[in-house]
Amino acid sequence: MDTIQLGVSSLKTSRLAYGCWRIAGGWEPDRVTAEDIQAGKRAVLAAVEAGYTLFDHANIYCAGRCETIFGDVLKETPGLRERLVIASKCGIRFPDDPFPGAPYRYDSSGDYIQRACEESLRRLRIECLDLYQIHRPDYLGDPHEIAGAFAVLLDAGKAKAFGVSNCRPSYLTALQKACPFPLVVNQIEISLAHQQPLDDGTLDQCLTERITPMAWSPLGGGQLADGAQRVLPSQEGYGSDALRTKLDALAPKHGTSRANIALAWLLKHPAKIVPIIGSTNPDRIRDAAKSLDVQLSREEWYELLVAARGQRLP
Ligand code: NAP
Repeated sequence: MDTIQLGVSSLKTSRLAYGCWRIAGGWEPDRVTAEDIQAGKRAVLAAVEAGYTLFDHANIYCAGRCETIFGDVLKETPGLRERLVIASKCGIRFPDDPFPGAPYRYDSSGDYIQRACEESLRRLRIECLDLYQIHRPDYLGDPHEIAGAFAVLLDAGKAKAFGVSNCRPSYLTALQKACPFPLVVNQIEISLAHQQPLDDGTLDQCLTERITPMAWSPLGGGQLADGAQRVLPSQEGYGSDALRTKLDALAPKHGTSRANIALAWLLKHPAKIVPIIGSTNPDRIRDAAKSLDVQLSREEWYELLVAARGQRLP
């Protein structure tokens, strides 16, 4: 698979990332079955065999079960860890954590960042994360405190590089000012179904600061491809008949799938967006790699943009 450097870091990874959010088969840790775990392991290994080297996690994915499954794959596959760039995130806290009645909230306090990182390392069975990201900006997050926690993790050899996710440009700027080392990614929702980062300055900042945008839900949770099983509430109703008709018209022209046209649309952006592939189906994981061979023309790119927006450009 083609490779890319993450931001200005020395981390070289596959051009597509593999996202581990769905590898436990659901969101609820109590309902994960032995079959779910085997399917999750098969998905991870299919991604490895297809050439993905960047693997994305978060401590909250199935309340840690996704990291645990991945850690087991690493343990069962000698030499694999050294071949991969492993990313995780922290900063969202579930209700009742750490006491009954505590609300769902964001937490970028220094103590929490350090503790969450150590817990992720333990579940993943690794010594050091290649990339550690703040999952969502904490309205109470002090950039200097976050930078201090990152520095402690860096000095202790627990994380090599740092980034953010869902971060508005102004907050990323504030955090970068406080950090003595470069933030290398902003993991954002961007797809044909969610184009806001094209216009709100997020991608402009990535271009200016050489921050790699990583795209979550690049297929709108499946709604731009062959259908969704589970999407976030904010993603319900993504995609339109007009968009799917346009994707289906371009797919045979490029000898590829509808999903790969949607991924190629992201790949064409000059900020070098890294789509995070979320399928757990080995065939689809392999097929997504073929999106790298699709070269959309400028005209096709805009036709897709307009079909998705449902209105002509001003
Ligand atoms: P996605 O690629 O938009 O959606 C994947 C879903 O689409 C899977 O359920 C998949 O089902 C389905 N799908 C249907 N047709 C498909 C096709 N032809 N090809 C591929 N998938 C198809 O991505 P996502 O899973 O929503 O998100 C990807 C990653 O982004 C996550 O794993 C996670 O790492 C990251 N993420 C980050 C945040 C954040 O806030 N930072 C939020 C959400 C996600 P099958 O499994 O049956 O193929």
